[in-house]
Order: sequence, then structure tokens, then C-alpha cells
Amino acid sequence: MNIYGIKRSDLEDYFVNMNEKKYKALQIYEWLYQKRVKSFAEMTNLKKELRDKLSQDFSTEFISISKKQEDKLTKKYLFKLLDDNYIEAVLMEHDYGLSVCVSSQVGCNMGCAFCESGRLKKVRNLETYEIVEQILLIEEDIGKRINSVVIMGIGEPLDNYDNVLNFIKIINDPMGISIGARHITLSTCGLIPKIDELSNENIQINLAISLHAPNNEIRSSIMNVNKVYNINDLIVTIRHYIAKTNRRITIEYVMLNNINDSDACAKELANLLKGLNVYVNLIPYNETNHLQFKKSSKERITSFYDVLKKNGINVTIRKEFGSNIDAACGQLRSKEVK
Ligand code: SAH
Repeated sequence: MNIYGIKRSDLEDYFVNMNEKKYKALQIYEWLYQKRVKSFAEMTNLKKELRDKLSQDFSTEFISISKKQEDKLTKKYLFKLLDDNYIEAVLMEHDYGLSVCVSSQVGCNMGCAFCESGRLKKVRNLETYEIVEQILLIEEDIGKRINSVVIMGIGEPLDNYDNVLNFIKIINDPMGISIGARHITLSTCGLIPKIDELSNENIQINLAISLHAPNNEIRSSIMNVNKVYNINDLIVTIRHYIAKTNRRITIEYVMLNNINDSDACAKELANLLKGLNVYVNLIPYNETNHLQFKKSSKERITSFYDVLKKNGINVTIRKEFGSNIDAACGQLRSKEVK
């Protein structure tokens, strides 16, 4: 087990089971996440025997930064995992602070037609520590703490439910990386049973749903998942989630030229979402070399936005980051993995 994948409460259980004091878990968290030491040997307020025992029971190994690409507001990291798989994460500088977009799987099986990450099928889930370490390495690299995390990199987070939840609890821990739940966003393509499960977790994170279409016909043509969990059931699930958690949901809508970006689509979307506590985030599409999809024009996006607005839907247009450095959605890994 890698120590960066262990929740503080689990570490407390570990100590209690070996007749040690619970607060040792807190001491370890302070070393790992406040002082940022990378070995048990450096944890000098613990007895030597205990440090040795910890070194036997837990690994402190790190994934590594294999490549970096940056422009003014974006830094893209390609990480090499200990088994030589590659994943990526992106650091973005917003006016409200620094945010990191992390990956949750090596590849993805959801098979969205427009998505570069999904072109390469899932190799495996990421372990919790591999998600935590993306953040630790980026913070180390820039010498600053980040303010928010979006789980929107490679992979479908709800297809790696337990590890992603564990990750959220570790970074949310005030003694861990201490990122407030409201500064953590999980994005899903719409795995209905897992959204239901998430609604019972009693955590205040933001949920974003990749809707990308106003009806089943269009959605099924670009997102395989819709053939299993269709749009009507998804809307019901969203309604339940909001009722249960009292949290507003973000609806992501990637603007694909001539596919889902007409004013008629906007009108249909407005009707679909009417009365729900959601806001729509229109995402300018990042074109990739391998896929034939094109981005909608600025005028088209504005017009789509206006129709939603006129129909009483809260809507924003996502700021574009890093499209000139392959920071878009799985492109760096896809270049590395031939
Ligand atoms: N699997 C999850 C999270 C990862 S994808 C999900 O589907 O939500 C994060 C978001 O990026 C999704 O909304 C996805 O549809 C979108 N996306 C994928 N490829 C894109 C591209 N080339 N340009 C813009 N958005 C893209």
C-alpha cells in the first residue's frame, strides 16, 4: 500500500490495531502534507522502531513528471506511473486561483466519439495515491498551493468509484491537502447507479454531468453511454440528486459544429432543463488530429448561449485553456502512447 492512498481515519485504525495512539496518524499527515517529507525516516518525532515498521508496511514511492508543456495560463503535465503507463494533468490559472484537472484512469472505456482520451481504451483504474500524487507533484513543481481540483482528466471517475472517493476524502481532509469540498468538481458522462450512490455520500463536492446533447438521438450518436443510461433517466437521476443533496449541478455541453449546436438544440435543451437547479457550461471543443469533429464558431456559441438565457437557463461559456499546448483532453498522453 502506498501511504498517499490512505485516508487519515484508516491510518488511525492501523495504529489502534497495533496498540499505538490514534494521533500518530495526524503526525504522519502533518509530515506528508504540511511539511511534505517523502520518507518515514524523516519523521523525527516518531520512534525509530515505528518508522521502520511504517517503511515495511507502506510505500512512499512517487509517480514522476515525464514531460511539461506550458503557455501563459496553463501547464500540462505528462506523468509516468510506476508501471510505465502514462497519464496527464493540467494546471490552470484562473482569476479566482489555481486549479488542477486530474486523471482518474489510464485510458477510458466510455467511448465518447469526440474525445481523445477515449480513443485509447482503459488499461486500468488509477490507485488513490496516483491521483493524490498528481496534485502533490504539481504543487511541488510550482512551489504554490492550489485552490481547486476538477476530476475531468483522462478516465471516467465514477467507473473508479472507490479510489476516486478515497482521493476526495484525502485532499479534502483539513490535515491533508485541505481543498474544500466546494472547490472539488467531479465530472461524469452519466453513470446513473453511481450518481445515485454519490448522492448518499454526504459530501459537498460539485457534480458536473457531461450531457452534450438535448435528446437521445444526438446523444447516442456521440456518447455510447447513452445507449445504456439514456437522457430521460439521466434527468430523473439529476432531479433526485439535487433533491437529496441540495446542490446545484453543472451541465457540461461541448459545442460541436453542426452536431449539437443549432438554436433548435438550444431550445430543446432549455425545455429539458426547465425547472432544474442546474447551470449549463458551454465548452468550446478542442479539436484533435485524430477525430473529425470541429469546434462551433464563436458566433454559434454566442447564439446558443442567448437562446438558453432567453429561456431562463443559467449558462456560462467555458474559458479556453491550453489548446495550443495539447493541453486539451488527453492529447499529450495520446501523443506519447503510439
Ligand atoms: N469521463 C468524465 C470526465 C472526463 S472528460 C466525463 O465524461 O465527464 C471531461 C469533459 O471533457 C467531459 O465533459 C468531456 O465530454 C469533455 N471533452 C472530452 N474531449 C473534449 C474535447 N476534445 N474538447 C472539449 N471537451 C472535451
